[in-house]
Amino acid sequence: MANEIFILKERCTGCGSCVKVCPVNCISMADRPKEENVRWKKLAVIDVNKCVFCNACVEDCDKLFEKTKIKMPNPDFFHAIVMKKEVVNVQIDTASYKGVWCFAEQRHSHLMPTIYELLHVAKKLSLDLNEDLSAVIIGHKVTSHAQDLIEHGADKVYVLDHPVFEHFVDEVYTVALTELIKKEKPNKLLMPASIIGRSFSSRVAIAAQTGITADSTELSINPKTRMLHATRPSFGGNLMATILCEKHRPEMATVRPMSFPRALKVPGRKGEIINVPVDPSKWNIRTKFIKYVPEKDETIDITGAEKIVSGGRGLGKPEGFKLIEEFAKVVGGAVGASRPTVDAGWIPYRHQVGLTGRTVRPKLYIACGISGQIQHLAGMSSAENIIAINKDPECPMFKLATLSVEGDLYELIPLIIQEIKKVKDHK
Ligand SMILES: Cc1cc2nc3c(=O)[nH]c(=O)nc-3n(C[C@H](O)[C@H](O)[C@H](O)COP(=O)(O)OP(=O)(O)OC[C@H]3O[C@@H](n4cnc5c(N)ncnc54)[C@H](O)[C@@H]3O)c2cc1C
Repeated sequence: MANEIFILKERCTGCGSCVKVCPVNCISMADRPKEENVRWKKLAVIDVNKCVFCNACVEDCDKLFEKTKIKMPNPDFFHAIVMKKEVVNVQIDTASYKGVWCFAEQRHSHLMPTIYELLHVAKKLSLDLNEDLSAVIIGHKVTSHAQDLIEHGADKVYVLDHPVFEHFVDEVYTVALTELIKKEKPNKLLMPASIIGRSFSSRVAIAAQTGITADSTELSINPKTRMLHATRPSFGGNLMATILCEKHRPEMATVRPMSFPRALKVPGRKGEIINVPVDPSKWNIRTKFIKYVPEKDETIDITGAEKIVSGGRGLGKPEGFKLIEEFAKVVGGAVGASRPTVDAGWIPYRHQVGLTGRTVRPKLYIACGISGQIQHLAGMSSAENIIAINKDPECPMFKLATLSVEGDLYELIPLIIQEIKKVKDHK
């Protein structure tokens, strides 16, 4: 049965409320034929070809019915839209899906390091399943990366290299990846929880009619069921939830950058490169790429930075970040921040470390005026060395820190900067 929607003419008052709530403008008001001889002059008409069966108009009309019921004991009007939705009960032969796939993100034809983290964790999954590990790369002028992906552990690389992929457009990438999934039937698919990965992985999951766990930080295979156990922080980081996708394939997960180490390179490793034919003329794409506007920010990106100096609410004012920037400059690091400082507009979001910010894994993390709440720790606790500067000796960050410095950051940081400069000058 296909989806159906229709108006019960005898109940429609022609009030026009449904026209306003329809998100795709598929309802209009028409004049009722004179011969109908009813009190109401207008009638709602639905263009079923445009309707997305979202139910908004049905709910709206039903609400009006409820309101009139209160006023009149037995209203004959409203409750005028009927929708019958197709029940999707797809039975998948899960055993026919084979292999672990990783999506290799590229920007301007350069591979993003997230793929090496995905290959590291996916290798273990593929060995546990005794199935091939593949990488998928979509882009323009990206074929040259295939050998590098093989040398980092991929047994096969699917390459979709075409000018249509030069700039990332989520609809285009979704169509291309979904076509490949439907043809090749992978068992598991990992994608980076980066801005690009997050923006189109959910579309791919919907188009491939499967489930996805977003922002996973742990992944494993259940040896009995061979299912993917994707674990992610939930309830503000207070609980870890393990999510399963039992009936649909591929089981998909996005993986938080910096949650896993990078796969090691084995120079000369052999694998198969599959050049996938791309024919965009078959696709019905509604989105158009207009132009690329690069971000104007000269500070070092925190993702992948080896040293990070972060400022928290203890700075007390936005200007405090001038001191943090100076500190970061002398140590040669990036500037990080806790969420309250971002929420207050002291520093842009891209600097935020933590559960709802970035996960970082630097060699040195200097936390200045940051208490160390669990949501902040979720993004930086795997730093190799942590220096905490705080005036509260009881702050949780001191419990995690390699070195704790108690005192006012406005007194301590200028002294530390001065000392570092002195050492540098002597060299
Ligand atoms: C769902 C959810 C997601 C979240 N995600 C994130 C996230 O991604 N990242 C994040 O950071 N937070 C996140 N939070 C917020 C988190 O719970 C904390 O509120 C936040 O991390 C606290 O930031 P802070 O340490 O800068 O501020 P505070 O907890 O207020 O700590 C300020 C610290 O500065 C010290 N201090 C004050 N003045 C000075 C001074 N002059 N010199 C030295 N020390 C001083 C104080 O002793 C104190 O320890 C999230 C919360 C929720 C509920």
